[in-house]
Amino acid sequence: MKRVFILGGTAEARELAARLHPEHVVVTSLAGRVKAPRLPVGAVVIGGFGGSLGLARWLWEHPVDVVVDATHPFAARMSEAAAEAAGMTGIPLLGLRRPGWTQEPGDDWRWVSSLEEAARSLPGKRVFLTTGRRSLPVFDGVPGVWFLARSVDPPDDPVSMEVVLSRGPYTLDGELALMREHRIDTLVTKDSGGELTRAKLRAARELGVPVVMVRRPPVPPEVPYVETVAEAADWVDGVA
Ligand code: NAP
Repeated sequence: MKRVFILGGTAEARELAARLHPEHVVVTSLAGRVKAPRLPVGAVVIGGFGGSLGLARWLWEHPVDVVVDATHPFAARMSEAAAEAAGMTGIPLLGLRRPGWTQEPGDDWRWVSSLEEAARSLPGKRVFLTTGRRSLPVFDGVPGVWFLARSVDPPDDPVSMEVVLSRGPYTLDGELALMREHRIDTLVTKDSGGELTRAKLRAARELGVPVVMVRRPPVPPEVPYVETVAEAADWVDGVA
């Protein structure tokens, strides 16, 4: 039995908690960004730590044997803080990152390195934004472009965009209907990977809509990473 601390906020984090519980004692940490998050099994703590030092302090003050960073591939600050806190405390840390999406024949993907670059390089005038509510100010006000933004919770501040509130998983038929209804000519997405939101990419392919794809931020080089929940569970079982 190990005391496992999971940095969560993803489907993989929930799956890992379900897989480890009850053989191991699992605590999952969530940032608290989403108003009604899907909760994993086991204990849950909500809210940040105050950077790497705060996380290190939390790890010193609580009984934790191993940490798994199963945050979203774009949660770069949390992953960096986890790496630094693991270095300070000596607690073993594993990163769990699902693979990114891969282009298929018929796809027209334009890779960019940031949201700002995406906003500067939109190929069309009717843009479907699926990069999360906190990214909307980066795009709001781009001249001559109409936006349909999709997010789980409403934007924090008013935006001059049409906003549709929903949470995946999404279907191909649903994505096709939404993109046709709004005559979308450009899709903007982060390379999040995974199945829950993949249907929009196939819909874009079928409709001949170009995709502006934001590259993932780098992971901390000192942390070992795996791509599947099964590998992460094996690591927890095997780590000394
Ligand atoms: P971020 O930019 O890397 O983190 C910002 C701050 O949020 C961190 O410094 C930390 O605050 C707090 N935080 C992030 N993840 C946390 C966690 N699992 N537990 C406790 N505190 C956490 O991350 P983000 O992009 O805002 O993502 C926030 C959460 O949403 C993560 O759990 C992530 O897995 C999930 N999520 C993110 C995306 C995305 O596109 N970025 C998409 C889906 C889900 P302190 O410095 O105060 O500790």
